[in-house]
Amino acid sequence: MRNIAYRPDLNKKTIQKLEKLKSELFLIQEKNYRKKFAAKKLKRIRQCRWFKNEIVVKLREMSGSGNRCMYCSNSASSDVEHFYPKSAFPEKTFDWENMLWICTSCNRKKGDEFPVNEQNSPLLIDPVSENVWEFFFIDEFGMLSPVFDKSINKPNIRAKNTIETLGLNSEDRNYLCQNRRQAIKKLNEWVNRRIELLESKNKNRQQIIEELKEEKNTFFRPDVVDYFFNGPGKKEEPFVTFFKKLDAFTS
Ligand SMILES: [Zn+2]
Repeated sequence: MRNIAYRPDLNKKTIQKLEKLKSELFLIQEKNYRKKFAAKKLKRIRQCRWFKNEIVVKLREMSGSGNRCMYCSNSASSDVEHFYPKSAFPEKTFDWENMLWICTSCNRKKGDEFPVNEQNSPLLIDPVSENVWEFFFIDEFGMLSPVFDKSINKPNIRAKNTIETLGLNSEDRNYLCQNRRQAIKKLNEWVNRRIELLESKNKNRQQIIEELKEEKNTFFRPDVVDYFFNGPGKKEEPFVTFFKKLDAFTS
């Protein structure tokens, strides 16, 4: 999981097209028929140029330079995901806010699974509209863990459900933890090297800041880099020293 920074607006024509589909959908009362209608229309519009050239292009843009999955961050994305599944919430099929860009493995895992609480609120975390680092931390072994919820004296339920539903630490996707661990190691090396360069004055603060910007955008694991550069990982070593050194050079 990682934070997707923003969702761009769609152009007017695309919004109109989606709204037209939504209106048609709302005219259908019977749920099963509504579901079928939504599925049929979606299948058709997926082939349309406006869908490919705008919706898919904007989703790709949101997922960043490596085109990584918005859930696992590991694999390349290829599927338009409906956060609220089309089967249970056909009326949300054409909602732009409901669309994510994910990999085939996550898509297969999630399928129609969508745990909700008694108030019918999702027990999964949406990487676009929520701050994922309020729910998860990454440990040194590359495990994604739920934060502890003091109010219930248990791990956060929504984070736990997200991890389990998508199999983000599961045995059958053990490459996810391995790759996270590998990325943490690489990022630590990168940071330690920059600390050395600053200390030895082989590079100045400005140069390192430029490199940091570049690394944020191009590092092969967007979740790991986001966690350690923007999230709670910033408070861990060697990141604390690194950011402290960068600040020290301002004065
Ligand atoms: Zn994925």
